[in-house]
Amino acid sequence: MPKTYDAVCLFSGGLDSILAARVVMDQGLAVKCLHFTSPFFGHPERMAKWAALYGLDVECVDVGDAFVAMLHRGPANGYGKVLNPCVDCKIFMLARARELMRSYGARCILSGEVVGQRPMSQRRDALNAISRDAGVRGVLVRPLCARHLDISPVEEAGIIDRDRLPAIAGRGRKVQLELARAYGFAEIPTPAGGCKLAESESARRYWPVLRAAPRPTAADFDLANVGRQYWCGAHWLTVGRNRADNERIESLAGEADLVLRTVDFPGPLAVGRRFDAADWPAEVLRGAGALVASFSGKAVAAGGAVRVSVTVGPGRGRDRFELAVAPERTPAVGWAEPGWNAAKVEIRERMRTLRGE
Ligand code: SF4
Repeated sequence: MPKTYDAVCLFSGGLDSILAARVVMDQGLAVKCLHFTSPFFGHPERMAKWAALYGLDVECVDVGDAFVAMLHRGPANGYGKVLNPCVDCKIFMLARARELMRSYGARCILSGEVVGQRPMSQRRDALNAISRDAGVRGVLVRPLCARHLDISPVEEAGIIDRDRLPAIAGRGRKVQLELARAYGFAEIPTPAGGCKLAESESARRYWPVLRAAPRPTAADFDLANVGRQYWCGAHWLTVGRNRADNERIESLAGEADLVLRTVDFPGPLAVGRRFDAADWPAEVLRGAGALVASFSGKAVAAGGAVRVSVTVGPGRGRDRFELAVAPERTPAVGWAEPGWNAAKVEIRERMRTLRGE
C-alpha cells in the first residue's frame, strides 16, 4: 500500500462508497478509505474482506467520543425519523476527513453521496450546505454524481477527470449495480444501512443516556447497546440476558460502577452506572437488587429474600457489600425499561428548544 495518497474517501462499506473509491482509483489515483466507527455505526471486523473483495485500502478511525459530544450538544440540523442526525453526521465526517487528509498527503476528499438519493441529507441544497458547513468546498468531490453538480475545484485543477466519472442521480440502484457487475465484485453489498441511530430499538436505549449523563462518552453507548436497559430517574442499570451479555457488560464496567450479582443462585450480571460516582439512594439500590434477582429463576423459585452482591468497579471482592431482597420485576421505586414512544416525544421537544421555537 502506498505511504501517501491522492485522495481520502468516506467509506461506510456500502456499495456507493466502494464505487466512489473505485471510479477514482481507475484514474490512477491512490485512495485511502476512511471507515469511521462509533457505538452507532462501523464494521471494523470487515477490513480484510473489503481489501480482498474490492481491492480497497481501508483504515478504521474511531470517532466515538467526538460523535457523542456532537449528539449531546444537539445536532443543529435535527434528526431524521429516529435519532439519526444525518446532515450533522455528514458534516462531522467530512470535517474529520479534512483534518486527516493532510496526514495521508491527500489533495481531495471523496464521498459516495448521490444527489437525490435520500430525502434529508442528499438533496442538492443539503449537499451544498453540508460541504459549506464542513469547510470542504475546495477539496470535496462526489464522484458518483459530480457530473450533475457544479464543477469542483479538484476537477478544475485536473486532479480528477470529470468526464470519466459516472453520472448517477436519484434513488434507483441500476447504474450502481451495473458498475458493480462490470468490476466483477463477487459480493455486492447493500446500500450502507446499519446505523443504530436510525433504529428505534437502539434509540430508545440511547435517549435516556443523552438526557441523564452530564458528560456522556462513547463507552456509555457501548453499554447501552448491551443487555436489558432499566432506568429509575437518572439511575441506570444494564442487566445481561445471557452469558455473552454478562461478559460484555462486566468488561464495560467502569471504576465507579456498581456490579450486581445474585450470590446463592445463578443469575445475570448487572452494572449500575454512577454518573460522577454519585451514591444511589438506598431504596433505588434495593430496587435494582430486587430486579436483578428477578431474572434468576432459582432465586424466584426459592421464595423470600435472596442475597445480591454489589461491588464497586469491575472484578470481585473490592468494596463489596450485600443486599437481602425479594426478587421483584417491577420494584416499587420504579425501575422501568425506556420506551421509544416516550423518547420520541422528548426528542421532538428538544429539537424545538434547539431551534428556539
Ligand atoms: S444513518 Fe447514521 S451514519 Fe448514516 S448519515 Fe445518518 S447518522 Fe450518519
